[in-house]
Amino acid sequence: MFLEETGLDVPEKESGAKSKEGRRFYLPNNGESEIIFLTDADKAKSFWEHKPKINGSFKQSFTCLRGVHDPCPLCEYANEHRKFWASFCTIMTVQNISVWSDKDGKEHTNNSKELLVLKKKSRNILAMSAKTLAKHGKGLRGAKFCVQRSGDEFSPGTGDVFTYIEHVDLSTLEDPSELNYAELLAHDPEGVARAVDALNGVEEATKAAETYKVEEAEYSVDDVPF
Ligand SMILES: [Zn+2]
Repeated sequence: MFLEETGLDVPEKESGAKSKEGRRFYLPNNGESEIIFLTDADKAKSFWEHKPKINGSFKQSFTCLRGVHDPCPLCEYANEHRKFWASFCTIMTVQNISVWSDKDGKEHTNNSKELLVLKKKSRNILAMSAKTLAKHGKGLRGAKFCVQRSGDEFSPGTGDVFTYIEHVDLSTLEDPSELNYAELLAHDPEGVARAVDALNGVEEATKAAETYKVEEAEYSVDDVPF
């Protein structure tokens, strides 16, 4: 079975350390991207993640604390409010090599290393492609795919149509290593606590999360060259 992931072992984020979200692969509806897999099908990892809607946005994601800091406050919130349960996610590293045009029509290549976070539907579809490649003696690492969304707004933002194009020589990439998952997906009990506070409508907690501690300036305002 392909994409039969092993659980990800992540450390706890240092207290007060800045979150490293990294860049996640995402397609807008009807979008299309070309990617190169840097993770092989049998090297994919899995973890549980909460993606609650906070202040109208699904932008933030939190590694579930179940089994590390029990009970996980977001699981408790989910059970109580019947929403935002943790999802089982498969993660892989991809190089996004999509070409896009700016407003002047000039073409740019993304060429960024991104975290591909797959949920069940996309994972199963990609597993079929990986199986077919394996029958032909090829792995997923180094495989270039065109990824598309099948059209409706409920199709996964990571795409659900994976079309194999070719295998590329990874030595042509500047850095074909995988992302540091432990760093990107570290357990963040403080962040989870803030998220739950925000979900519960505690305004002060939200403000605290957004407040930066400003070091006392050693210069006077007059010294700042505007
Ligand atoms: Zn949880």
